[in-house]
Amino acid sequence: MGAGPVGLAIAWRCAQRGLRVSVYDDRPGSGASHVAAGMLSPVAEAYFGEHELTALLVESAARWPDFAAELAGASGVDLGYRTEGTLVVGLTADDLAEAGRLWAYQQGLGLPITPLRPSALRDREPALATRVRGGAVAPGDHQVDPRRLVAALRVAAERAGVEFRPARVGVLSEVDARVTVVAAGCGTAPLTGLPVRPVKGQVLRLRAPGGGPPGFRHVIRGYADGEPVYLVPRGSGEVVVGATVEERADTEVTAGGVLRLLRAAAELVPELTEYELVEAVAGLRPGTPDNAPVIGALPGRPDVLAATGHHRHGIVLTPVTADLVTELIVTGEPDPALAPFTPDRFAKEPRWN
Ligand SMILES: Cc1cc2nc3c(=O)[nH]c(=O)nc-3n(C[C@H](O)[C@H](O)[C@H](O)COP(=O)(O)OP(=O)(O)OC[C@H]3O[C@@H](n4cnc5c(N)ncnc54)[C@H](O)[C@@H]3O)c2cc1C
Repeated sequence: MGAGPVGLAIAWRCAQRGLRVSVYDDRPGSGASHVAAGMLSPVAEAYFGEHELTALLVESAARWPDFAAELAGASGVDLGYRTEGTLVVGLTADDLAEAGRLWAYQQGLGLPITPLRPSALRDREPALATRVRGGAVAPGDHQVDPRRLVAALRVAAERAGVEFRPARVGVLSEVDARVTVVAAGCGTAPLTGLPVRPVKGQVLRLRAPGGGPPGFRHVIRGYADGEPVYLVPRGSGEVVVGATVEERADTEVTAGGVLRLLRAAAELVPELTEYELVEAVAGLRPGTPDNAPVIGALPGRPDVLAATGHHRHGIVLTPVTADLVTELIVTGEPDPALAPFTPDRFAKEPRWN
């Protein structure tokens, strides 16, 4: 249930293993993935106190190169997968201090991130504002275009024999299958009672003038006068600017959200003010109480697996989630890597219907 990147990748992998698979969704690809930036950032997204999540992010990011190559081959779709790496920058001294605390922690975990002097930063990306006080490079933090990812997964899954059913599932009993996987993103809570809540994010899409590529090649993320922001350049000329993080369930784009994003983006890369503003959109991240995904059988229901709650990381976590869920379905045995992410870690009894 759910044709976002997570559900589609599981369906594709299961079909490759010879299982008969149906995917239910009346609006495939319309969830968080439609809005997502597609950063594959296990290092820049390694936050204090999230060791188990960081380990899963690192594991999934390591699977991305092979996953991308296999999927592009199976679908014939260009995923927009790019490996130039990520620059993490601070505009002011305070911004740099905040970013620096985090990358010191990340370095302490042994993750690949290296501080750069301002001149070295600008050598890599001359488009950065001269005011930028400093930064670091995370060469292994890559990116993919999530809309292309979903398109590719749909083709690959269909070619592998997956059947698509344009239906929104209201209750689990509507689905007649040996195993049901609930990969419905923010639609998961009403079906399972799991504590998956929407976390709103607004993003903008800009386009470089003259139909050319953007004037920078790395993902650039960091802080501008205390405002966190990221800029993701695509080969198509598009730049994704994101994102707000709001505890709200609506998908309205607000003037304030656009203002904050544009101001922070243009402070880091001034030439963006000359770009065309082509889209402003909001989506809902499937968040959980501990920010980590929920993957595994519902308590007392070995026939119903959850694969959801991927919050800010569903694109990077797609390959590992698909592999581990498929293995669980085929063998009946959960991989030990799933132990921190089981649905039963939430004290409240799930409710299903
Ligand atoms: C602003 C923003 C930026 C982001 N940036 C990144 C990023 O840079 N990197 C990253 O890794 N992640 C990012 N994410 C997170 C990522 O988009 C999500 O974690 C990911 O899309 C989750 O995938 P999913 O397949 O579980 O859910 P979704 O993509 O939300 O898809 C869920 C699907 O389930 C379907 N569905 C819902 N209810 C039902 C039902 N009852 N029956 C049938 N189908 C149903 C929906 O129609 C939808 O197609 C971002 C998210 C946002 C909002």
